[in-house]
This record gives sequence, structure tokens and C-alpha cells, in this order.
Amino acid sequence: MRRNKEIHPDSLMIMGIEWTIKYVDKLKDDDGEILCGDTDIDKYLIRISTGYHDTDSEMSRTILHETLHAILRMTGQNEMLSEKQEEAIVRALEQGLSQLYRI
Ligand SMILES: [Zn+2]
Repeated sequence: MRRNKEIHPDSLMIMGIEWTIKYVDKLKDDDGEILCGDTDIDKYLIRISTGYHDTDSEMSRTILHETLHAILRMTGQNEMLSEKQEEAIVRALEQGLSQLYRI
């Protein structure tokens, strides 16, 4: 689906730093696995796969999800977590916060 420019920003201030949000068709990781989004702390860049979302709400949740990864990495809290643990925490927070804020 296409990005809805009114609700899907092209940048976000996360912990005082401006991150770029880039929308690309279909992201895959190095192993060829489908990614809904990814977070690059070195470039302050979040990429969102437009091709793997069917609704505005799903895309908003992915932006929230990637923002949570960014916060964990900017605060260094991810350093005490394995990738699996980080993903589990981010998913739980994404679910809870998206319900709280009715995304
Ligand atoms: Zn994730």
C-alpha cells in the first residue's frame, strides 16, 4: 500500500535527534527474510516496507515498533539484551502502546 503522508511522517525527533523515515517497497534482511521495517542507529534511519502493509494502522504500528528499537539502542539498553530478547520487548511494547494510543 502507499504511504499516507498525513499520518506517516518522513522524519521523527527521537530523544532529541532527527531520524529520517524512508518508505521503500519491500525490505529483506541479509538472509532474504521479509522485514516490515528496520532501524539503522548509525544513520538515524528507519526504513518501512510499504509493500508488506495492508492498512495505515499496520504501517503506523511498524513505525512505532522501529521507534522503540531506536530508543533502546540510543539509550544503550539493548546492549544487555540478545537480538531475540530485544525483539520480544519491542513487540510487547508495540502491542501495549498501540492499544493505549489506539493506533
Ligand atoms: Zn523489531
